[in-house]
Amino acid sequence: MIQDIGEHVYDNHFAQHEAGPGSYVLHYVGSTVLCKLDGEAIDLPLLSDFSDKPDLQYLFSIDDKDFFLSRSKKVAIEGFSYETVGWLRFAEPQYLLFAVATGWQLFNWYEANRHCGRCGHPTQAVPTSRELCCPACDLVIYPKISPGVIVGVIDPATERIILTKYAGREHARYALVAGFTEIGESLEQTVAREVMEEVGLKVKNLVFYKSQPWSFSDTLLVGFYCEVDGDTAITVDHSELKVADWLARSEMPDRAEDKVSLTGEMMRRFRSIGNAVLKG
Ligand SMILES: [Zn+2]
Repeated sequence: MIQDIGEHVYDNHFAQHEAGPGSYVLHYVGSTVLCKLDGEAIDLPLLSDFSDKPDLQYLFSIDDKDFFLSRSKKVAIEGFSYETVGWLRFAEPQYLLFAVATGWQLFNWYEANRHCGRCGHPTQAVPTSRELCCPACDLVIYPKISPGVIVGVIDPATERIILTKYAGREHARYALVAGFTEIGESLEQTVAREVMEEVGLKVKNLVFYKSQPWSFSDTLLVGFYCEVDGDTAITVDHSELKVADWLARSEMPDRAEDKVSLTGEMMRRFRSIGNAVLKG
């Protein structure tokens, strides 16, 4: 998955760091990031690549490399171009893709909170932690993370799983039931509600699998498998889904090209071990 960056160590402990010539600069403009792209190989600019030092905000480190955010206007650096962040999901090495995605979530949060949402005054960075604060009305603004669930709904009697395709996407791939958590509900309640809304079924025996930061949509995804409870006849919510079907392991796509998403890993796991996913 996108956060599985091998022997590399992501450190998001907040501290003030001084940028050096070898620091990475994550420079986003609109929906793009400044990078060097050669096929699927990605590289990022270092501070030493910039002729004028940009304004920088420390974000995190990976191993001994610090990553800083720049929100200045477009710059021209030979060999680098602005590439759409959402199209970089296959970029390698994965730790740089993870840095781009994670920095992207922070960039969008900083951009959306230049001014206080309560009184309109310009916000300020808190020197000792990630939050922003409003000096006029003392509002504290925390980074935005929206929890959501991914659900593998299984019929153990026939060893099948529900796969869905979203409506409104031309080349929709099979995915799992998924949705955001609403205010006032637990993750378990989100699972029950989303499954009922999307395919009209009751579920039981939830088993937590793994979670995943998915910074492309400000999300923390939480993956569960569960059993259908009672009737297995699907009623598709066509406002959200194009199709929803029960598929056997042999009928499932493997999404082998998708190394970064929790959905892909959960689908491959059921395809590989079937009902055993319900044992946790
Ligand atoms: Zn304010």
